[in-house]
Amino acid sequence: MSNPNVWPVSQEEMAEQRRYMADVRALADRPQTYFVVTYGCQMNAHDSETIAGMLREMGLTEAVERDAADFVIFNTCCVRDNAERRALGNVTWLKEVRKRKPDMKIAVCGCMIQEPGMAERILGQYRFVNLAFGTANLYRFPELFWRMLHAEDTVLEIDARNTLAENLPVCRLRAESAYINIMYGCNNFCSFCIVPYVRGRERSRRAEDILREAEKLARGGVQEIMLLGQNVNSYGRDAGDGPDFAELLRQLDGMGIPRIRFMTSHPKDLSDRLIEVMGTSRHVLPQFHLPVQSGSDEILRRMNRHYDRARYLDRVRALRAAVPGIGLTTDIIVAFPGETEEQFGDTLSLVREVGYDSVFTFIYSPRVGTPAAKMPGQIDPAVATERIERLIRVQDECQQQRMRRFLGAEEEVLVENLSRRSAEAVSGKGRHGLSITLPGGAADIGRIIPVRVTGLKNNTLTAERLDGGGRE
Ligand code: SF4
Repeated sequence: MSNPNVWPVSQEEMAEQRRYMADVRALADRPQTYFVVTYGCQMNAHDSETIAGMLREMGLTEAVERDAADFVIFNTCCVRDNAERRALGNVTWLKEVRKRKPDMKIAVCGCMIQEPGMAERILGQYRFVNLAFGTANLYRFPELFWRMLHAEDTVLEIDARNTLAENLPVCRLRAESAYINIMYGCNNFCSFCIVPYVRGRERSRRAEDILREAEKLARGGVQEIMLLGQNVNSYGRDAGDGPDFAELLRQLDGMGIPRIRFMTSHPKDLSDRLIEVMGTSRHVLPQFHLPVQSGSDEILRRMNRHYDRARYLDRVRALRAAVPGIGLTTDIIVAFPGETEEQFGDTLSLVREVGYDSVFTFIYSPRVGTPAAKMPGQIDPAVATERIERLIRVQDECQQQRMRRFLGAEEEVLVENLSRRSAEAVSGKGRHGLSITLPGGAADIGRIIPVRVTGLKNNTLTAERLDGGGRE
């Protein structure tokens, strides 16, 4: 059964976009260099990899810095007001830069463009922008780029369809670790969240396309894949047939890629079957990002989250029983409209009760068009700031305690970069998702190294190597 709400991009349409890429490449006077500025989540980071992939196919190379590029594209996020303001501020700043570099082309894409009223703003206040397009139009970027090069005015394309495109070129940021989108959009309509309005309804990629992509990455020697979706736990539900997320994960686990991670999960859709696969898999890492948002049942109800505190804690217990020592992380919003001191206290007590390895904390940010933005009882910013500071203090205490469980333990680190603090150290992520620093050099980047954890400093673990390498 196919999903009637999905608009699969046909092979003919993709062939047409490939022709545009070749046509741009052949232009003698096209921009030579590009710079992609990314805001927001991993989904956006991966979209930026796709944009960079298409730009390279069109013959452009990456500029060393933004202000020197011939073409600058801002891939925006509108989940929080400050991300949006930051993006618009930087777009405006580039208008000044262009006075010194008049041939520079400026583009804006991503979630922000899909917001109601943004098209009018771009065509009014931001007329100097050469190209703007929404999340559903990403696959059409080569054609839009071509049109931009031949247009006097802003080229703008915003599409409400739930498009699903395959085989777009990708220029991956890291060689050892790769994002794979398994689905797009969201059906949940949490009352504070704008994502369903700007990213459309849930649509899952076909399992065979995902497995083929993962196989190709495995053949290329990738050490880790990160499966992406707004709610990966509901993968496959929109298609009605084919594997669900647990089954997809099981099949990927059999492929032999050393590490598999995923995000984001919704507690209401976290099934026993998925927990069982987590517990029996070899390569799915023992870590889970499970956004709780609040510890208060009343606030969860008004957030339209479809679970309560008891159900959330039940899922945490089940995960810990299946995967002992699992690293749990979460997202929390403080100062949701009407949140009382007592309800905020429920969040603090939940944080203490669960014992997270890390918590991403946010002050509620009203988003126009969402139900919560119209709710009574918007919280005074001073109160919100005081609450988030208190939450961070509580989490810091819990985190320090949680991290001590690793002291003396053996771990494996996928090395990501050189340490900023020492010329003779590198850092990366352990299997449980925590940052670990160890002795080493540039040759270790991209490798998985066995270590023993020896210390804890500022929420980072330090370790000694067990492979005999490094420069102590
Ligand atoms: S699950 Fe809720 S918070 Fe997450 S993207 Fe969907 S609507 Fe937003």
